[in-house]
Amino acid sequence: MSIMCDSTGDVLKRLRTHFGHQEFRQGQAQIVAAVLGGRDVLAVMPTGSGKSLGYQLPAVMLPGTTLVVSPLISLMKDQVDELNRRGIHSRALHSMLSVDSRHEVLSAARAGGLRLLYVAPERFASDQFLRLLGELEVARFVVDEAHCVSEWGHDFRPDYRRLCAAAALCRPSDRASGRPPIAAFTATATPEVRDDVIALLGLSEPQVLVAGFDRPNIYLRVERVDDEDDKNDLLPGLVRGRRALVYAATRKTVERAATFLQASGVPAAAYHAGLKDEERTRVQDAFTVGSLRVVCATNAFGMGIDRPDVDAVIHYAIPGSVEAYYQEIGRAGRDGRPAAATLLWDYEDVFTRQFLIDSPRRDKPWHSTAGLDPAEVARRKELEHRKLRRVIEYADTSACLRATILQYFGDTTARERCDSCGNCRPGAIDAYERELVRKILSGIARAGERYGRHRIVAMLMGETRELPPALTRLSTTGLLRHETSDVLHEWIEAAISAALVVVSNDQYRTLSLTEPGREVMLGRMHDLQIRRPSRGPMVSALRGYRTYHPHASRAESARRKHASRVDR
Ligand code: ADP
Repeated sequence: MSIMCDSTGDVLKRLRTHFGHQEFRQGQAQIVAAVLGGRDVLAVMPTGSGKSLGYQLPAVMLPGTTLVVSPLISLMKDQVDELNRRGIHSRALHSMLSVDSRHEVLSAARAGGLRLLYVAPERFASDQFLRLLGELEVARFVVDEAHCVSEWGHDFRPDYRRLCAAAALCRPSDRASGRPPIAAFTATATPEVRDDVIALLGLSEPQVLVAGFDRPNIYLRVERVDDEDDKNDLLPGLVRGRRALVYAATRKTVERAATFLQASGVPAAAYHAGLKDEERTRVQDAFTVGSLRVVCATNAFGMGIDRPDVDAVIHYAIPGSVEAYYQEIGRAGRDGRPAAATLLWDYEDVFTRQFLIDSPRRDKPWHSTAGLDPAEVARRKELEHRKLRRVIEYADTSACLRATILQYFGDTTARERCDSCGNCRPGAIDAYERELVRKILSGIARAGERYGRHRIVAMLMGETRELPPALTRLSTTGLLRHETSDVLHEWIEAAISAALVVVSNDQYRTLSLTEPGREVMLGRMHDLQIRRPSRGPMVSALRGYRTYHPHASRAESARRKHASRVDR
């Protein structure tokens, strides 16, 4: 039952002594308390956020062995090695062990000396192992990657379906009646998967904890557009100078976006499953080592990407679900630096998504599941449509974008307004744009506040041929050569409108900084109020609102537009 004698302070002390971590991460303390408390628990936290501690720390505090079902042998091995290194006696049982080693693990488990016993799910098909379960004193029955029990999850494992019955065979170490408490852990937080986990693992009135899904350094925004031309007006400004991923729905649009960017002077490559293996490897490697900064891709790209410094993720079309969206934008800003996620929202893209759901394709799980009856196929398609409707709601909402996503995932720590998304702060500039403004202001300052905008732009672009010698050697000379001069002119205009820069009212029209402009340049003014230029990096919020119609009529007009295109 519950560990009443352990106060929060004791738990923290145990965290420090056993695991060497000074503090809990967000959500961990609540999960540890819930698991110690003795109720069934479903804990949902993103991958890498430290879920395992949620059962490892209770395991060292509770009498008996904590049984951990885990589907990946390599991960299991790493965890067991790490635990033993920390002096927490643990073993793993899986098919890669020799018969002798397996016997050895079983006897160690029977002797009761193990704090944690990791088990691969296929072990539960073995009668010998099921008999052993009845002999163990089990503190907690932990199911890691619990979404594997659900067919809605991306990684269904039939063996997980045995776990509910297997847990019932275990004896709880606290000598209470019934089975030991089950603690299920997953990073997949969608409502369907959560419901499946609770039902199929047989969790009894579980405490459900969802935490850690917020990525506060990612600025979220939705830009409403009418067609591909609108998207292309915005795209170069969203990726230029950044390390960026552009996700499109089909191979053709991936190719078109990449070609358009190249034509706009932004080196970008396409990545999708239709390319030759060598080409895909080349693009992936170039992005990984940093020689290629912008990739346009289908969702095939990203799994193996290990670059923590992606500045921007742009969705060139609406994704199929909120979970896909969040996973894809989650590739931005993993180093904790500010990053931006922009969804270019054209209702017409919904038809492509609907087509992808309804057309038979090999890569969908239900097309590879032989013998599935048509009613089941229809049910699964309906689920995909439901997910699509939820992401349309996200795109259409005027509420806080961050809160909308977090509430979808059931993260109860979500605030109503985040003050750092396109809906809480319409027209706000992102981190890259803020830096751009600072660099322009620095350029004006370094040039001695004695030159007009054409020379300042030429200096920042590194176009030194016609410049006075003093401007050719500044630390800001060529600093923004990856931008276009149009973009820089527009930002200078915006800086003038925001009263960061003034123009002399003599014939020279020289630029100089105002006091607020100097503060911004020095990074001392955090609440920078500047309107993003109406062309260039982004359309203005106003234009966004003008093209926005209430959901139904938007859908209708897009449908008509789509129909007329198909007729042609
Ligand atoms: P996952 O959520 O994917 O299961 P892990 O449990 O493997 O993630 O944890 C990811 C990493 O975070 C590990 O290296 C772990 O040691 C570290 N970690 C977990 N909790 C803390 C903490 N409270 N303080 C510092 N590091 C932690």
